[in-house]
Amino acid sequence: MYVVATPIGHLADVTLRALEVLRRVDVIAAEDTRHTRRLLDHHGIATRMLAVHQHNEARAAQPLVERLARGESIALVTDAGTPGISDPGARLVAAVRAAGYPVVAIPGPSAVIAALSIAGVDSDGFVFAGFLPARAAARRDALAEHRAARRAVVLYEAPHRIVELAADIASVLGPQRRLTFARELTKRFESLHDCDAADAAAWLTADPDRTRGEFVVVVHPAAPDPAAPDAALAAALPLLDALLDELPPARAARVVAKLTGAKRDALYAAAQARRGAAPDSDPDPDDSAETA
Ligand code: SAM
Repeated sequence: MYVVATPIGHLADVTLRALEVLRRVDVIAAEDTRHTRRLLDHHGIATRMLAVHQHNEARAAQPLVERLARGESIALVTDAGTPGISDPGARLVAAVRAAGYPVVAIPGPSAVIAALSIAGVDSDGFVFAGFLPARAAARRDALAEHRAARRAVVLYEAPHRIVELAADIASVLGPQRRLTFARELTKRFESLHDCDAADAAAWLTADPDRTRGEFVVVVHPAAPDPAAPDAALAAALPLLDALLDELPPARAARVVAKLTGAKRDALYAAAQARRGAAPDSDPDPDDSAETA
């Protein structure tokens, strides 16, 4: 079974390999056959289809496994993007793999990756949270889990809840949290907007067009808190303590800074404090004077 990514809007955003697989398989299992028909017609593909959506995914697994057992090949597609990403597919994939048949990914578009690729977010990795719960209390709880996250959080949201989501982000994650709204990617009215969470709800409601269509919201990582304890320093202190038994503070601070990446000034101040000396603002005094 091939799991085939299809466009998230623009019908040309489909790989050559995806088109070849869709043309060649015995049957296409589609979330909505009318929707997928537009893609197939656009590319001149006549493969027959059957419907597999979230309401019949569990039931559909057995007949599809039987087809595979008869030697048929299947392509699984959803309405947009990559199956299994906030879309049906996972249960079917698990059932097919459990039955011992190979499952092959035919990678391509996904709104989360498209949005991240243009958000310009400064983040080491990201968290894909997809759709948050529709109920306000549960949605706020879900957002609270990301309060201290040092990674971008990518959300999907329906247009009728986008303003509520923006307001909740401001109240739970703070008004200064940077957001990117990627709307209608690859489509005619594609737009990209960056703002602070404090301004997001007002911006969205200022023009009815701004709440139309499909949205990805990229929540940028929290800015580092200058008042927060220095995690690198805290992690380096046991090593500093061990070296202070053998070395003078300045040298111990220099060695630990090299080994751990913690800041030398901060290590030196910590070393002085541990020796009970008054903090010395010079992190690089003459070691020979100390050892003399
Ligand atoms: N499987 C899809 C994927 O790989 O991205 C996601 C399907 S999910 C049911 C639909 C949601 O994806 C939309 O509500 C929206 O949040 C996001 N989405 C899909 N297409 C989009 C587009 N062209 N622009 C912005 N967001 C999009």
